[in-house]
Amino acid sequence: MEKTYDYGIIGAGPAGVTTALIAANNGKKVILFEKDKIGGICLNKGCIPTKTIMHSADLYRDAKSSENIGIVANDLQFDIAKVMEHKNKVTETLRNALTKTLQGKDVEVVNKEAKVTADKTIEADGVQYNCEKIIIATGSEPKPLKDYPFDHEFILNSDDLFELKQKPQKVLIVGAGAEGIEWARIFKDIDCEVTVAEAASRPLSIADEEVSKYVERLFKTRQINLKTSTTIAKIENKQVTLSNGDVLNPDFVLVAIGRIPLKPQIDGKATVIGDACGQLMLANFAMYQARALVSGIRFDNVFVPSVIYGTPEIAWIGANEQDLPYGSYHKAVCPVRMLGKAHCDNEMEGFVKVLTYENKIIGAHIISKEASAIIHQFAIAMQNEISVEELKKVCFAHPTYSEAVYESMMML
Ligand SMILES: Cc1cc2nc3c(=O)[nH]c(=O)nc-3n(C[C@H](O)[C@H](O)[C@H](O)COP(=O)(O)OP(=O)(O)OC[C@H]3O[C@@H](n4cnc5c(N)ncnc54)[C@H](O)[C@@H]3O)c2cc1C
Repeated sequence: MEKTYDYGIIGAGPAGVTTALIAANNGKKVILFEKDKIGGICLNKGCIPTKTIMHSADLYRDAKSSENIGIVANDLQFDIAKVMEHKNKVTETLRNALTKTLQGKDVEVVNKEAKVTADKTIEADGVQYNCEKIIIATGSEPKPLKDYPFDHEFILNSDDLFELKQKPQKVLIVGAGAEGIEWARIFKDIDCEVTVAEAASRPLSIADEEVSKYVERLFKTRQINLKTSTTIAKIENKQVTLSNGDVLNPDFVLVAIGRIPLKPQIDGKATVIGDACGQLMLANFAMYQARALVSGIRFDNVFVPSVIYGTPEIAWIGANEQDLPYGSYHKAVCPVRMLGKAHCDNEMEGFVKVLTYENKIIGAHIISKEASAIIHQFAIAMQNEISVEELKKVCFAHPTYSEAVYESMMML
């Protein structure tokens, strides 16, 4: 046993890197083990590459459909090779920056698979490291269908999509959760025929029911075929039979039914954070948990916003309306079309719904362009117990989507 550290962290995704940087900032000696690429799923096969491809898809879709507002684009192409090249550049730039930041904070990075072999002991490549505190931040892996494992040719997971060489024509997505909704809209944006099979009776079954209903309507408007209460009955010779009897011949099946926490061998005391702990599988949850662990900030799952980058974006925080006892709360819904900015942008779909109890916000549910930004106003209000009356006093810039926050407060 040669080396001694204050923190030994396994996994360099958002959870592990955040822990490492804050601990190092606090003057602790930190070692970080990563078997693959710095940045974890989020940076290499999750949030960042998805949203980069999505940005290209957004531009393509908008250019195609903006003749009525004076944009005429002829011979438009979605060049998937270039899109992927750009995506690789973005992830590489961010990965290099993160690597430099870790170096700058004197975090020792070991590019090896690691395990916990005893209390205060991490082993990687036959070398043992003595670590006062051990943090497991090893993330998660895609969940396969029960009877049909990933073959990475016809039955794909999201990792496989980042290697696509050709634009598909027909796609079947299993699961209408965050991942299913984001990829459904990307493939629709780039002209694919998209079917989504969802086992539950509504898309985004963890969300507020009003949000799910609106998403269902948006799918219809965008001609994405959503089949709820539907599972996969059979996959044979690249033909898929759904439980409702439909037979489909997609280019591939994207399985987006969730992820499984991933943990190494742990034969000693360790704290598990991020996706590996199997709670909310979000990068912001992982980073928040890491911050709470090292800096001791107040932590509560209720303050974690969820964002799904559909068209338009979907975001929420706190309680769902259907979970609240009848008559125990107040509610305001501001339709996005009430906002001047929505008309300027020709983006009038959606609403901002707020739930309050005793003049404090207990839940907010948004479908809107820029929902990913608006939600933080509710997050700040909730975390700091800012009342409805106090929010009404804030000066909101005009024209903005944030004006929906003010409008909804005025409706309460
Ligand atoms: C397609 C997709 C899109 C997503 N989009 C979003 C989004 O928009 N917003 C959002 O908040 N979340 C999003 N997520 C979820 C987000 O990526 C995860 O919640 C986040 O990455 C979890 O962070 P983590 O640090 O816990 O784990 P990870 O990011 O998975 O990092 C874990 C790391 O540990 C390493 N590791 C595992 N075992 C070992 C070992 N034994 N030794 C050494 N290293 C090991 C892995 O190689 C990996 O790099 C998305 C996920 C996917 C798949």
